[in-house]
Amino acid sequence: MAQSYDLIVIGSGPGGYIAAIRASQLGMKVAVVEREHLAGICSNWGCIPTKALLRSADVMHTATHAKDYGLTLEGTIKPDVKAIVFRSRGIAHRMNNGVGFLFKKNKVDIIWGEAKITKPGEVVVSKTAKKPVEPVGPIPKNTLGEGTYTAKHIIVATGARPRALPGIEPDGKLIWTYFEAMKPEEMPKSLLVMGSGAIGIEFASFYRTMGVEVTVVEIMSQVMPVEDAEISALARKQFERQGMKILLEAKVAKVEKAANSITATIELKDGKTQQITADRMISAVGVQANIEGIGLEAVDVKTDRGFIVIDGYGKTNVPGIYAIGDVAGPPLLAHKAEHEAVICVEKIAGLPNVHPTDKLKIPGCTYCNPQVASVGLTEAKAKEQGRDIRVGRFSFAANGKAVALGESQGMVKTIFDKQTDELLGAHMVGAEVTELIQGFVVAMTAGASSIDLMHTIFPHPTISETIKESVLDAYGRVLNS
Ligand SMILES: Cc1cc2nc3c(=O)[nH]c(=O)nc-3n(C[C@H](O)[C@H](O)[C@H](O)COP(=O)(O)OP(=O)(O)OC[C@H]3O[C@@H](n4cnc5c(N)ncnc54)[C@H](O)[C@@H]3O)c2cc1C
Repeated sequence: MAQSYDLIVIGSGPGGYIAAIRASQLGMKVAVVEREHLAGICSNWGCIPTKALLRSADVMHTATHAKDYGLTLEGTIKPDVKAIVFRSRGIAHRMNNGVGFLFKKNKVDIIWGEAKITKPGEVVVSKTAKKPVEPVGPIPKNTLGEGTYTAKHIIVATGARPRALPGIEPDGKLIWTYFEAMKPEEMPKSLLVMGSGAIGIEFASFYRTMGVEVTVVEIMSQVMPVEDAEISALARKQFERQGMKILLEAKVAKVEKAANSITATIELKDGKTQQITADRMISAVGVQANIEGIGLEAVDVKTDRGFIVIDGYGKTNVPGIYAIGDVAGPPLLAHKAEHEAVICVEKIAGLPNVHPTDKLKIPGCTYCNPQVASVGLTEAKAKEQGRDIRVGRFSFAANGKAVALGESQGMVKTIFDKQTDELLGAHMVGAEVTELIQGFVVAMTAGASSIDLMHTIFPHPTISETIKESVLDAYGRVLNS
């Protein structure tokens, strides 16, 4: 007889594993089906290993600027690519093991294999063709295997994979996706990055800091196209100062491969073309959801533009089937997946006061140098929506802590509704802004007004004081500039 559960979750990424743990906390009998790696893309190939690589880049950057801080370092500072990758992969391995431990602690069953929904309430698990990639495996002990399983509720959390442009498909050797970019065997001398979203620009920043000649080609008119234009322009200036070449409103039209290099034909905004030869290329043109082969058609789950359609609580159009995380649409971020997981499970459990995900309050962080972080509406979006706004700005150059750290290149920009004083958006570029943005997210979630923010006491000296100054600036009350 098929083993039965209250909840089966397909996929153990940040969406899936958080859903399973929360469900177990709420007394449900839970299983997670995983075919490749516990903890999903985020811990194995995304958020965490990239931040480990970028940490090596930060240390490299600081070390090469040691003189600015009155320190003499003897000899040349060189990246040891094998050691950098080894550290990053080791950290991924640790995260992956951590999720195995959490499942055990929370009595969540792991079913190892490829899951397919065959009818509402039924999941068939077959042998997976995917092998865990070193050193992220091995498959955890005491997992269940192939077979038919039943559950009152099924959550689809199958995530996403790299998107490829026709004719410029990654080959894993000369044209990389994030998988190959994450573990280079040696540093290329030159690199072309197609796409300047968070993934593309983080890798561009990592490789540039390591001394690689990096060219970024972006089809839109700014790097990190979803960010506020002013913040993006400031970041771009600093990337270029670091030696990164950036082509905007430019398109990779064709790529020819040689034995150990590629030559890309780039269509420029003035209609001319340019050829760029580089050792390697990263294709970072977005991701696509894993919606195929999981039985969605069998049960008529609705999809739209490649993503599963859900309501604010993760419900699909089919009773008993839910979707969360990357597979359920943008923004494709781990914390969005985790939040949707908790909401979805609490709603299933019938908890009171469960609120639907408010996408406007999901922060976005990019961990390049300089870092970029934001929440809410950009100035352009606020204007597009017809909002009457006031904008505050504050530069890191006027903040004592930032100057003391040697990090005076940065800025905070806040956007308020003139009529209601509601905080509509906050945008930051500079050191540690990926940590600082949370101040704005808490304020927005709590419905804080500009007055609340102005009455908040910020510790001195901290870069966080730029938050308050930016708010004060929006109301003509800035103190330190
Ligand atoms: C290079 C890179 C850097 C990133 N950096 C950040 C960052 O800094 N911050 C951030 O918030 N986000 C970041 N992301 C995005 C983040 O990784 C994703 O948003 C997040 O992993 C989505 O979680 P998920 O649970 O929806 O799916 P995933 O993490 O993709 O997990 C899905 C899981 O489902 C499994 N699966 C799929 N199909 C089946 C099946 N049929 N049967 C069984 N198992 C299946 C997969 O093997 C996988 O383990 C980054 C992504 C990349 C690629």
